[in-house]
Order: sequence, then C-alpha cells, then structure tokens
Amino acid sequence: MFAPLCVNRLQRQALEQWQQQLAAQGLTVACTVQGCDSAKEQLTLEQRRWLNPGSPGAALYELHLSKPPHSHWQAGDIARLWLADRYRDYSIASLPDENHLRLLVREQHHDNGEPGLGSGWLCQQWPPGTTSPFSLRSNPAFHAPSAAVPLILIGNGTGLAGLRAHLKQRSLQNPQAPCWLLFGERSPEHDRIWQQELDHWYQTGVLSELDRCYSRATGVAELPEQCGRTHSGYVQHALRREKKRLLQWLKQGAAIYICGSRDGMASDIDQLLQQWLGSRAIQRLQQQGRYRKDVY
Ligand SMILES: Cc1cc2nc3c(=O)[nH]c(=O)nc-3n(C[C@H](O)[C@H](O)[C@H](O)COP(=O)(O)OP(=O)(O)OC[C@H]3O[C@@H](n4cnc5c(N)ncnc54)[C@H](O)[C@@H]3O)c2cc1C
Repeated sequence: MFAPLCVNRLQRQALEQWQQQLAAQGLTVACTVQGCDSAKEQLTLEQRRWLNPGSPGAALYELHLSKPPHSHWQAGDIARLWLADRYRDYSIASLPDENHLRLLVREQHHDNGEPGLGSGWLCQQWPPGTTSPFSLRSNPAFHAPSAAVPLILIGNGTGLAGLRAHLKQRSLQNPQAPCWLLFGERSPEHDRIWQQELDHWYQTGVLSELDRCYSRATGVAELPEQCGRTHSGYVQHALRREKKRLLQWLKQGAAIYICGSRDGMASDIDQLLQQWLGSRAIQRLQQQGRYRKDVY
C-alpha cells in the first residue's frame, strides 16, 4: 500500500508516519506499541463543572486538568487515564495554547448502579486539587486536514470534545475556511453544551454552518432563537434534511469528521453516505483522508 518504513528503537516520529500512512488508506490501528503514548504524567484536576443539570440524559462534566509540562498535542489526540492496571481513553477538547487540558465526560453506571470505573472517578470521586496519572496518545487517524479544506464536523454527546478541539484549531489557523458543525444532544433546555462559544464562532464566521439537534425536543417552533439551525430529532435525521448541502460541500472537496457514538449515530450516518454516494466513493473519501471517525 505504501513504501516500507524503517522504525529504529520505536522512534516516535517513524511510528507517527506509519499511523499517518494507515490513516491515509482509511485504516486505523489500536496503538499497541508503547512508544505511541507519551510518558505517564500526574495531572492536577483544576476544575470540574456539571454542564447539564436537569437533563434527561446522564450527567455531563467539563474537566480542566493541568497542562502536561513537556507534551504537545493537536486536535484529534486522546488523553489516557490510568487507573490500577486499566486505562480509559478520553478525547482532548482543548489545545495546548489554552493552557489547560480539557475533557468532556459522561458519568456512566453499571446495571447495579455502581459508577463506571473511569467516568465515576473523573466525574465524582477525583478531588479537585489532587493528581491522577494520564498519558497522551497521538491519534493521526483523527488529525485535521490542511487548514484550507472545508470541514464538516458531525457528532453527538461527548463527541463534542473531539470536535471542539478541531474548531479551536480552525479558529487559530484559518478562521475563514468553510466549517460546518452538526451536533446532537437530548434536551434544548438542559443540554446546550458550550453554547456561548459555538454562537461566538458562528457569529465570527469560524463556523459557516451550525446545526444543533435535540432528540427530546417536541418541535422546532418551541426552541428559542439562536445562531444557526435547530432541529428536533437525531443528528442523522437532520443530516438527511441537509443532504443537498452535504453533497455540495463534498463536491467542493470537504472532509467529514465524526466523533461520538459508534452505535446509532456513526453507523446510521455511514449508511446514509453509502446510500447517497455508493461504497466506491466512500472508499475514495477514506483513501483521501476525507472521511474520518473517532467513535466509541
Ligand atoms: C477513542 C475514545 C475516545 C473517548 N472519548 C470519550 C470522551 O471524550 N468522553 C467520555 O465520556 N467518554 C469517552 N470515551 C469512552 C470512555 O473511554 C469510557 O469508555 C467511558 O467513560 C466509560 O468508562 P467507565 O470506566 O466509566 O465505565 P465502565 O466501568 O467500563 O462501564 C460502566 C457502564 O457503562 C457502560 N459503558 C461503558 N462504555 C460505554 C460506552 N462507550 N457507551 C455506552 N455505555 C458504555 C458499560 O456497559 C457499563 O454498564 C472514549 C472512548 C474511546 C475509545
């Protein structure tokens, strides 16, 4: 598929090139080589904020962690939390310029009501001002395209974390390049995650299109005025309505980035795209690195 790469002593740069080549082929690999992770660092929890009181969905928290002193990361990269001998991955929502490492975490519970190992720690148990071990994982399969490429960002729930990092990167590198965010949550009253910032990006042209979808909204007419378009229903339903626009953007060379739920959202969008474009065209988009997913 591509010329062989020589990797000497797990050299990080060579491993990243390997991942980039795979990503360009539309493939991703779980990073099983230790050299792909930065060393573990003790990061301090600086602040934790509950974002969706009253929501019909599980609680969602924004966490600010201290910035790891010697690490660099870019939009698409992952923070790996190490607890006992387990680890959990979380999309990084901020950029190093912002001077903190931001996460967006959904509190999860087992059927018996016990908190999830990672999310329970992050959302409830971790005392602010203390540290936990993290490593940063470079994730070239979800790195940004060149800053001039029109970008379609689609996601739901905590997927907004990974998409926000891309938006922030766009706002710094090429704020006038076409960028479209299509995002879904549950309730328009309680789940307006990072609304002010998204509105600001829309008003200043960083976002040329903004679609917010609320699955528990009873009717669009009931939703208050705001920037962009608002839909009741799931992201995939709104995308169906925006088919013409999506095809137009793809014609102009846009890349599609999807972050959030694998089941439901990402799989339905995949089906829609297969229906509209056919599998050959999808394969071509993947090979060109124009259709990328970070879903879980
Ligand atoms: C690349 C990547 C990026 C991720 N980014 C984020 C992120 O930005 N924010 C975030 O909150 N999570 C993210 N996750 C998911 C995260 O890693 C954990 O899986 C999640 O926090 C649950 O872990 P836990 O230890 O709390 O739950 P566990 O103790 O493993 O399980 C608790 C309960 O939750 C259920 N559960 C576990 N995982 C999921 C899931 N993904 N969907 C639905 N139910 C589940 C289990 O069935 C169980 O009932 C990401 C995962 C990956 C692979």
